[in-house]
Amino acid sequence: MDLADKVLSLAKRRGFAFASSEIYGGAGSTWDFGPLGVELKNNVKRAWWRAMVQVRDDIVGLDAAILMHPRVWEASGHVENFTDPLVDCKNCKHRFRIDDLPDGERLIDAWRAGSVDVSSIECPSCGLKQLTVPRNFNLMFKTHVGPVEESASIAWLRPETAQGIYVDFENVQQSARRRIPFGIAQIGKAFRNEITPGNFLYRSLEFEQMEMQYFVRPEDAAARFEEWKAERLRWYVALGIPEAKLRFREHAPNELAHYAKAAVDIEFDFPFGWKELEGVHNRGDWDLRRHTEYSGKDLSYFDDLTKEKFIPNVVETSGGADRATYVFLLAAYDEDLAPVADAAGKSAKEERRAVLRLHPALAPYKVAVLPLSKSEKLTPLAREVWAAVRPRFMSVYDETQAIGRRYRRQDEIGTPFCVTVDFDSLEDKAVTIRERDSMAQVRVPIAELADRLRERLPGC
Ligand code: ATP
Repeated sequence: MDLADKVLSLAKRRGFAFASSEIYGGAGSTWDFGPLGVELKNNVKRAWWRAMVQVRDDIVGLDAAILMHPRVWEASGHVENFTDPLVDCKNCKHRFRIDDLPDGERLIDAWRAGSVDVSSIECPSCGLKQLTVPRNFNLMFKTHVGPVEESASIAWLRPETAQGIYVDFENVQQSARRRIPFGIAQIGKAFRNEITPGNFLYRSLEFEQMEMQYFVRPEDAAARFEEWKAERLRWYVALGIPEAKLRFREHAPNELAHYAKAAVDIEFDFPFGWKELEGVHNRGDWDLRRHTEYSGKDLSYFDDLTKEKFIPNVVETSGGADRATYVFLLAAYDEDLAPVADAAGKSAKEERRAVLRLHPALAPYKVAVLPLSKSEKLTPLAREVWAAVRPRFMSVYDETQAIGRRYRRQDEIGTPFCVTVDFDSLEDKAVTIRERDSMAQVRVPIAELADRLRERLPGC
């Protein structure tokens, strides 16, 4: 099994993520986060919010609606431009994005240059050379507001969270009394009718974005773009992604989106290749200028110190919560050898273990409380210890099967610390803390347990 298969199987077996509507055969490229997955993803979002809003003095939050006025998507360019070029196979009826065909990069370049020819290309599914001429397909999900399905009632499920921020720019700036430069951060659902979804959480139809739009004076945009590139890379590294697994990829001039002045992808070394994890874009004044044009509401900013009026430029950081969650799982997955204790609690031999080396801030459970065995004598004290830990840390209690098996179970889901209550605990009122990565064990008095855990789990 390769890494992607191992993580997928672990995710399903342990309750990180399941295919949506699985008992009906699955809804296809939509995922439900199980008990561990919701903790992990919430922790990813919390860590992002902490770094982008809580610890800064220049960024405020927003939670805009998913449904917006349909004109928003005309102003943003999505109705016209949010498309993928697709071909159909006339023989086997499969549909492909042209960049997924053999030699896809050349085809995309040719498509952009207006002269793509796919007549000599074999269908990746049936092998025949019967692909249709490429045509544009809009990725936005369309729906209707109200009982009548007519063009006047069209609504789109937002394909990105950013537009809520642009449209609310003035409301936020004035109500929060912000001066430029300042940013607005938002986490929320986005929807894209992806034609070639797949690779587990990497690309799904419904996902969450973590986006921040930083509003600056036009002459500051280029420097802020460089700062945000570095800042966003640092965030992933600080949460445990090895630097060697991350890189920047600058967009070439011919691949820049319609709005972008400069764009860089932060890429991750996925098992299926280097792919985008997050985008950092210098969008110029495109968004606020377009919304000014389409809404008739002047979104320019007046600087009362310099007496200048201008349309703010935007530097945006745009990442996916689901894609990031997947990346944290992939980067954390490891296998090594762990000593297995015999019945007397002595380590007898070594066994292969799977371990998620998740940063403690991201780990679903910070602490597992484990009585050495399921014994009537130990249970009351062990439950007492868990009750003391529970209000402070997301934690779990497990008393089934041999202690070694239970350590493995916690290692596999990334729990940084196990607290073991044994028969000596009844006498000495102390327990053992075992650390996930080093497997080192230390004995601490129960009265000090919460403090000892807090020292080991700063910020959790
Ligand atoms: P890609 O080329 O991978 O489709 P994109 O360039 O369309 O990505 P953006 O529009 O810049 O992506 O979206 C910002 C971020 O949102 C991406 O970096 C990614 O983390 C996340 N994202 C975008 N589309 C999806 C999707 N279908 N499923 C999961 N996450 C997504």
